[in-house]
Amino acid sequence: MRIFNAFLLTVVLLASAVVVAPGVRASVNVGAREDAARAERVARAAEAMRAALVAQRRDFHMHPELSNREERTSRVVAERLRALGLTDVKTGVGKYGVTALLVGGKPGLVVAVRADMDALPINEVNDVPYKSQTPGVKHACGHDVHTTVELGVAEVLSKMKEDVRGTVKFIFQPAEEGAPTGEEGGAKLMIKEGALESPRPSAIFGLHTEPNVQAGQIGYHVGPAMASSDTFSITIRGKASHGAQPQLGVDAVVVASQAVLALQNIRSRRIDPLEPLVITVGTINGGSRFNVVAGEVKMTGTMRTFNEQVRERSVALMRETLQNVAAAYGATAELEMGDSNSVTYNEPSLVEETLPTIRRVVGDANAVALKPFMPAEDFSAYQKVVPGFYYFLGVGNRARGITAGWHTPDFDVDEESLVVGVKVMSNVLLDYLDRHAAGK
Ligand SMILES: [Zn+2]
Ligand SMILES: [Zn+2]
Repeated sequence: MRIFNAFLLTVVLLASAVVVAPGVRASVNVGAREDAARAERVARAAEAMRAALVAQRRDFHMHPELSNREERTSRVVAERLRALGLTDVKTGVGKYGVTALLVGGKPGLVVAVRADMDALPINEVNDVPYKSQTPGVKHACGHDVHTTVELGVAEVLSKMKEDVRGTVKFIFQPAEEGAPTGEEGGAKLMIKEGALESPRPSAIFGLHTEPNVQAGQIGYHVGPAMASSDTFSITIRGKASHGAQPQLGVDAVVVASQAVLALQNIRSRRIDPLEPLVITVGTINGGSRFNVVAGEVKMTGTMRTFNEQVRERSVALMRETLQNVAAAYGATAELEMGDSNSVTYNEPSLVEETLPTIRRVVGDANAVALKPFMPAEDFSAYQKVVPGFYYFLGVGNRARGITAGWHTPDFDVDEESLVVGVKVMSNVLLDYLDRHAAGK
């Protein structure tokens, strides 16, 4: 086998030496020169926008809006897209979602790029000139950066429309952090309302801020990037009685306590230790008074994993565990699974073909492979429809003390990352369309 392969390789090398005639090599060089010239144009355009990008990000940061309430943000986005000459600007897609098309001057495929727009119910503690003007609401996940970068990409590409081979579909999405209880929202609702249709993109890209990666760098995963997430609620029903006569009731607080511990044994004793799994009970509420045996306890939590089979098995085990623990004490347990996100899965071939572009823009040493993250992302919903690549924009700066994690009151970003984000995403989209254009 080995000998045969070596022989075959020799034949292939000889053949390619014959096939690559001087003329072909020259046209490859011309192509490379064109690519470099275009990358240079993108870089210049992005650099020229530096101050405007910072101002735009600060405007979004000062006016954060909660999930499914992104009225102002979405208006600013739509107005900007229209001003840049994008076509088919649709608003109200999945509540405050916006989609628009940039139709290039050359024929080709359709590629999509998505940014999320919502903020979080977190009070800003940073004493900065661009502090949130809405008490209790803050862009603590960097979606202000995502929206700003995608608008920047729209501006760069609109200035070189004649060179774009195909169409870029811009998707600005509300409610990534989860719609309020009782409301639909986010990626799933935008998809349901046609965001990935007419035209359907052949691939989708997105980026997320990452404070543990330094500004100037890009982090990426091949395959699983972020966990699946399933929210759940549990109701334990017992029977109330006088606090001094527990034998007359069924204490839902005691049963709930046993249930919380029993659920942790699914992780430690029933699922392969090599498979990541987190089951967190985040809230527990029950009882009415210090001297009354609680008749009912409600709990809510979240489950995370990177494997669809582990996900299904864990739900079945949670149900079984809860029912049997409750039955042992004469109580009942009900498990309701709520909102869910699939695993954020980057199509390996799409990552491999995109990495050279990222490396070219930020430098080889600044494209860093990351370990998967346990937080989830509803970008995964698009990836279930079309292949997608979700990468991470470094926004941290240890020297300047910008280290706070996602969803914290002091989260911030190094605004140098805005230009980097625009350069990288513009090139990623242009190169994708080039690689997949017929005849190139
Ligand atoms: Zn978040
Ligand atoms: Zn986020």
